[in-house]
Amino acid sequence: MLPPEPTTLPVTSSPTLPTPAGSASTSTISNQANRCRAAGLDSQSRQLPAQANTEDVARLVRDLSKDTQVDGILVQHPMPSHINERHVFDSIAAGKDVDGVTTASFGAMSLGEPGFASCTPAGIMRLLDAYDVKLAGQQAVVIGRSPILGKPVGMLLLARDATVTFCHSKTADLAEAVRRADIVVAAAGRPRLIQGEWIKPGAIVIDAGYNPGNIGDVDYDAAASRARLITPVPGGVGPMTIAVLLAQTIQAALAAKAI
Ligand code: NAP
Repeated sequence: MLPPEPTTLPVTSSPTLPTPAGSASTSTISNQANRCRAAGLDSQSRQLPAQANTEDVARLVRDLSKDTQVDGILVQHPMPSHINERHVFDSIAAGKDVDGVTTASFGAMSLGEPGFASCTPAGIMRLLDAYDVKLAGQQAVVIGRSPILGKPVGMLLLARDATVTFCHSKTADLAEAVRRADIVVAAAGRPRLIQGEWIKPGAIVIDAGYNPGNIGDVDYDAAASRARLITPVPGGVGPMTIAVLLAQTIQAALAAKAI
């Protein structure tokens, strides 16, 4: 339950390194700040120098974890290659892991225990539920197995009794796997990897990929002519991710204040 009056909660800090290739851009960070503001949440961004090492970032995250003015922590990723991302993620206190990236959050989510879910996977599940997509007994094919997207969305689908197949860069016949899918979740970060002719007629297609030029992982036009439902890029999965991030941040703030 939310307070009835607009309230400013001290919220999301984003420890951020200078942008390496592929990392969060300045526009992504300012977009997140705008979305926080629109939701009545206060956000702060922390920038570290390029030479910062894993311990420097982890220390900042630990300090923010202890800061009672901060309710949620979002670490922008991918991080530069010299940073041990897993170590940094696992420095976030469980109650502030609003992006659901820690090992503990993944474990809890996979076991159906309380905790914060990974935002994009949780956003995908909300989308599927909003459109009453049947999951139990369905063949779900997830393309991608990253710890923040492919693996957790597969675990959430499994928890809802879908039969889940994970595909990745070593999958021998991706087309054949996708052809069997009632539900396709594309999360590879490869522009138009999933061809329209692979889509089973009537399948549900969730394109979580986001590639330069606003291009998804699915060849949208060709796939849309066969799918029953398909998410666009942009404007499909992306907004759901931010919505879940904000919702989980509010949840963390309320829990911290025992409201
Ligand atoms: P990632 O860590 O790079 O993982 C990519 C995954 O795709 C890996 O498991 C990789 O397999 C697999 N893959 C790569 N090429 C493949 C191929 N040709 N065939 C089959 N599998 C292939 O990426 P990520 O962080 O999960 O992100 C994936 C995409 O989602 C990106 O486009 C990213 O921008 C987007 N994304 C969107 C949101 C959002 O809010 N909409 C949030 C997060 C990410 P291996 O494991 O074998 O290398």
